[in-house]
Amino acid sequence: MGYRCVNCKQPVEINYEYRGVRCPYCGHRILVKERPVRIKQVLAK
Ligand SMILES: [Zn+2]
Repeated sequence: MGYRCVNCKQPVEINYEYRGVRCPYCGHRILVKERPVRIKQVLAK
């Protein structure tokens, strides 16, 4: 499954054997799942 760094927009492969997930390119810790289709957007209100 692919993820993408929200900071540098690079695709990141995540290995869940690691506890800490971070972008190998910029070190950012927030990654979003890359879904091929149907991205459901939820409005928080
Ligand atoms: Zn990054």
